[in-house]
Amino acid sequence: MVAGISETSAPDSRIGFDETSASTLATTGTDEFPYLRYTVKFTPGTDAATMSWRGRSVNRNDIAMHVWDAVAQTWGTPVAAATPVTPGGVVELSAKVTGSERFESGTAAVLVIDSPRIDEGFETRNAVPDEQFANPESYDFALQHITDTQYISRDDPEVYESMTQWTVDNAEKYKVAYSMHTGDLVQSHIRPGRPEDAARKEFEVASESMKILEDAGIPHGVLPGNHDNLWNAAGRMIPGEHEKNHALYNEFFGPQRYQDRPYWGDSFTDEDNSAHYDLIDIAGAKFLMLYLGYNPPDKVMRWAEGVLDDHPDHNTVIGTHYYLNEFGDKPNMGFSDIHASSGAQIWNRLVKPYDSVFMVLSGHIDGQATVIDHNVGRDGRTVTQLLSDYQYFEVEGERRTGFQRMLQFDIDAGKLAVTTHSPTLGSFHPERFDPQNRYEAGSGEFVVDFTLPADLPRRVSAEG
Ligand SMILES: [Zn+2]
Repeated sequence: MVAGISETSAPDSRIGFDETSASTLATTGTDEFPYLRYTVKFTPGTDAATMSWRGRSVNRNDIAMHVWDAVAQTWGTPVAAATPVTPGGVVELSAKVTGSERFESGTAAVLVIDSPRIDEGFETRNAVPDEQFANPESYDFALQHITDTQYISRDDPEVYESMTQWTVDNAEKYKVAYSMHTGDLVQSHIRPGRPEDAARKEFEVASESMKILEDAGIPHGVLPGNHDNLWNAAGRMIPGEHEKNHALYNEFFGPQRYQDRPYWGDSFTDEDNSAHYDLIDIAGAKFLMLYLGYNPPDKVMRWAEGVLDDHPDHNTVIGTHYYLNEFGDKPNMGFSDIHASSGAQIWNRLVKPYDSVFMVLSGHIDGQATVIDHNVGRDGRTVTQLLSDYQYFEVEGERRTGFQRMLQFDIDAGKLAVTTHSPTLGSFHPERFDPQNRYEAGSGEFVVDFTLPADLPRRVSAEG
């Protein structure tokens, strides 16, 4: 038996490259597949046999068995493949193999490889809206996306509470590893000169609702949208203005609130949490959750570049307030006076050049947009970008639908099932509450591609 690594899910030639006689192997590269290759002896003339293998992969990774076809000179399609029932659990493969082309001179060459998901059931089952979350046994972990809670902070605190309480109540069942809020926690802090009382009251509501996640130990983070700071203040180039504009946000959601959490990374400055990041291991892979406020100024963009430079081995989700518009464009904005950053600039400076960034979540624009960019950057990776903001959706004329999203990741399949749900309405149908009637039935339940670009764990190890 030898061990090797293949760049493809079945090597092009019978003998791969970099093979060693190791008994187990794991690799952490992008799109690389570790394998064990066996030469099995048979009585000359044998042209049929049952071949069995027992061992483990990692997480819920499929393992596939191929037998070399000496005539066609190919490993061909797998003769057997299986998914572990529990993460990292035992996989047993067995296949009856026939044909003299598989038994060259009394030997068969057998390849057992940690391949990508072969069964497409996760995608087919979840692509059809069914008013349900994906079956937790069929995915590795989930991320919760919540955003633009501004009107419920102002008018309907119980709706906000129902959202974070739902996450707490269901985190274990649905494998919610992390929850990200992409801004506009509150409504009434948008312009200077307005009385601070209203904003303070809303921040208190938002704070109490987020505390529900905090008290339950659910890893999570928030960022300031344009309603959470004095974005429209004059003189934004004045030193200290950025900090002044974020003072109330930082009073409630500053670094002091989060810095003792085990997943805490760092913030823009010791006092300013308007941009910050978390580091967390999920399903054996490292993740960086990078937060940028509304229209981040150049100094924040440079800070974010530094964070990405320092963590190339972390699969990165960028959360920011305004990135996609409702048509799926990444707009350029006219905020040159503050050297601030539009969606296009975030894409050009933080997403495209950094191979570790695989997802961007955003809000601000009322509605939904899904943009999957393929063949991005040096490694030709996939970048999944989701806008989901239901702030203007209405129940009986009031903006209190309380929809949020759960993103359910099947790592080995490279597929992500999105489910949009309102705990307070018990509804999976945001489109029914859109006063503009822009979306079709089931528009909040779908499947998209993703890839984890960094530190993707794959492994094959045999057991007797
Ligand atoms: Zn906004």
